[in-house]
Amino acid sequence: MSEEKKNSMGMSTRSIHAGEPHVKYADSLMTPIFQTSTFTFKDSKDIQEFTKDKKKRFEYGRYGNPTELIAQKRLADLEGAEDCVVFSSGMMAITTTILSLVRTGDHIVITDDSYKKTLEFCRSYLKRFGIECTIVPFGDYDALEGAIKENTRFIFSESPTNPYLNVFDLALLKKIADKHHVMTLIDSTIATPINQRPLEYGIDLVTHSATKYLSGHNDILAGAVLGREELIAPIRNLHKSMGGLIDPHCCYLLLRGIKTFPLRVRKQNESALEVARFLENHPDVQKVYYPFLESHQHYGIAREQMTGGGCVVTFEMKGDLESANRFLDSLEMIFIGPSFGGAESLITHPASVSYYDYTREERYELGIIDTLFRLAVGLEETEDIIADLEKGFEKARI
Ligand SMILES: *Cc1c(COP(=O)(O)O)cnc(C)c1O
Repeated sequence: MSEEKKNSMGMSTRSIHAGEPHVKYADSLMTPIFQTSTFTFKDSKDIQEFTKDKKKRFEYGRYGNPTELIAQKRLADLEGAEDCVVFSSGMMAITTTILSLVRTGDHIVITDDSYKKTLEFCRSYLKRFGIECTIVPFGDYDALEGAIKENTRFIFSESPTNPYLNVFDLALLKKIADKHHVMTLIDSTIATPINQRPLEYGIDLVTHSATKYLSGHNDILAGAVLGREELIAPIRNLHKSMGGLIDPHCCYLLLRGIKTFPLRVRKQNESALEVARFLENHPDVQKVYYPFLESHQHYGIAREQMTGGGCVVTFEMKGDLESANRFLDSLEMIFIGPSFGGAESLITHPASVSYYDYTREERYELGIIDTLFRLAVGLEETEDIIADLEKGFEKARI
């Protein structure tokens, strides 16, 4: 099957076929795992040909591996990007991308509702190299525009965000960025290439933690950055120095996960919406945050910009810290743990995990109340997830 033919096919088809030849090494059906750190040259002529066109073959593991190349091509296809680099984690993708873009004296703008470690990297580590960072409140587009200076290199935001699933208006972001000639970066992890297409809004670079939905089985860490070829080339080059390579076997697991990714996300979209509705109608629940619920503050833009709400549902239970703990302790199927996008439903209690080092006052200021939960709806039957939650609420009430 030609690449052209594949490109006209649907997401599920491309998740299985894109980016690799139809007939593979030794007629293997599955993508071979090239478990090698180096590649050899037949003779001196072979070396000479390689130096003329380095893209033609592989040389050394840190500079590329065939399994990795297929993952990059497949992800680029799914996101509708010209090019992609795959990394050993989502954070490796974010930090390598940012480092490749900034120079001493530059300024960047990031929204406050970003991933904790991304914020820490921008706020603390970049500062050491003389890169200034302004953190603006998510959703305040005037503050965002006001923060842009002469030396602003890019605006970085997540959409949707964690844990409140706030949705960034990508068209508006692009408009503001164009007016001031700055680049735009979106961490689209929570949306996936199925639910949101930032590049189609003119966003310059998109990052994903492939640890989540793309690999989808809670068994590996991986990351990716996607965009135009000329923007990806310097990132790929820095990647070769930074060395945050994905291991070939891990890359195979990523490719295996990607095959069912559209199927999984569609099911999770449906299931999570049902769970969100159940929670919203539950007498023991105070508030639910889910972008596809009419009650969400960004429902309108979410509906315009996204084709599904994803698997993360955040909610506030009625009661206090003790009832929250009783609720957690009564869950029998849903695991207590971070992450999302995998087969297993997971729940986190941000007050005691992500914000354990904050005082109660500091947490409450950020809205992280004692009874806040972030549920990652897995692939179990929706009714079983709801039944487990119901049991938790009953026990919490005692
Ligand atoms: C998990 C996550 C990351 C970090 O990815 P890792 O694969 O854990 O390094 C970054 N951004 C978002 C939105 C995430 O959910």
